[in-house]
Amino acid sequence: MILLFVLSSTTALRVDPPVRVVGTETPVRLQASNPHGIRRVTAWIEQDGQQHQVFEKAEPATRFFFFGRNEPAREITFSVGTKDAPSVKDGKARLIIETTANDFRGATDRVVSDVEINTRPPVLTADGHQHYINQGGSELVTFTVSGYWTEAGVRVGKHTFRSFPVPGKDESSGERFSLFAFPWDTPADIVPVVYARNPSGAETTARFWFKLFPKKFRSRELPLNDAFLQKVVNELDPGGSGDLLSRYLKINGEMRRQNNETLAGLRHKTEQKVLWSGPFVQLSNSKVESLFADTRSYMYNGRKVDEQTHLGFDLSVVKNVPVAASNDGRVIYAAPLGIYGNCVVIDHGYGLQSIYGHLNSIGVKPGEFVKKRQEIGRSGETGLAGGDHLHFSMQVDGVQVNPIEWWDDHWIQDRILSKLTPIGGEVSHAHGTYTPKGSPTATARPLGRAR
Ligand SMILES: [Zn+2]
Repeated sequence: MILLFVLSSTTALRVDPPVRVVGTETPVRLQASNPHGIRRVTAWIEQDGQQHQVFEKAEPATRFFFFGRNEPAREITFSVGTKDAPSVKDGKARLIIETTANDFRGATDRVVSDVEINTRPPVLTADGHQHYINQGGSELVTFTVSGYWTEAGVRVGKHTFRSFPVPGKDESSGERFSLFAFPWDTPADIVPVVYARNPSGAETTARFWFKLFPKKFRSRELPLNDAFLQKVVNELDPGGSGDLLSRYLKINGEMRRQNNETLAGLRHKTEQKVLWSGPFVQLSNSKVESLFADTRSYMYNGRKVDEQTHLGFDLSVVKNVPVAASNDGRVIYAAPLGIYGNCVVIDHGYGLQSIYGHLNSIGVKPGEFVKKRQEIGRSGETGLAGGDHLHFSMQVDGVQVNPIEWWDDHWIQDRILSKLTPIGGEVSHAHGTYTPKGSPTATARPLGRAR
């Protein structure tokens, strides 16, 4: 009986994810389970035979962390670091975490991890290129990062953009690049920075030379009539209730936001390769009906009932025209997507993706590789569309950008490829590998060149 009791008092402990490096304030996630609950959690850093307490939480009178019988482990989160132990030096140490069970004996259990104390922030150097950035557009920066870091990229206001090893460079060189956007709705006084951080709480940022061209986006009025509302509501909210206008407004607001979140989430389905080559192509012979980031005022019976931003180009030809892939890539989405109707998304690598909406029919499947100008479907008016047209957009790491730049070969050379190109060589588009000088297509440009 006593033996059983003792056994059941044991607290099962696990630090997940494991902590290997401790800095000034490193988060710890402790998974713990004990049928009697836990009344105290304590953590120490042990170095050179000395123990420094870095965390304690105790509530003896009440059940601090209570676990029901057979309950799964609970997660207890806290942080440990040199903030609470200033005499601990960078180097090897042990992290000791101890729990006290809420039984009458106050049985203790420990989990001990070998850790490295590292309080130095990562070291960052951004490139010396000149970065001319259009508000709503894209740009590329290269940088070198060293020291202990686990996340590095570009931050523009509230948005962060991932980085990848420079093609042809070894990951261990720390030479990386980030393709980023200056989002259309980010204020023009925001300064983009390169950042690197680690889970021990240290972060470094570095500035780079840039000039932003603020853009004034257009405002347009879009009249709504009952026939259009009925068409949209029948298709996108068939079982819904409420009056026609409020059902439409829900689609135009809430569904639009959800669909844009789904598109943004596709950034994780990207290849770490340059899959594309040359300029992206626009739907041939098309008429431009709407521009990127047009603000639309929705008018119903002479009154403004809604306002939304249109994050793409509307391109029309005639009904049911073949829609071609704007560049080489891999299909990562091919299905209905709310307001976008039948929608295809093509990944072009390193977080660059193109989006095709309102298709009448889809001719490709997810996972399929497509070539530039290959037919991927036919134009239509599925989703939130009042007539047959292609809604075309592009996104950079989940942020929709003005595609007009990607249709421009000069812009691509000067703003994107020149920065990835080592002097005397070029990045081969198809494989993302380094091609030595002398190849017939070499496009090396001097550092700092800008147009
Ligand atoms: Zn559109």
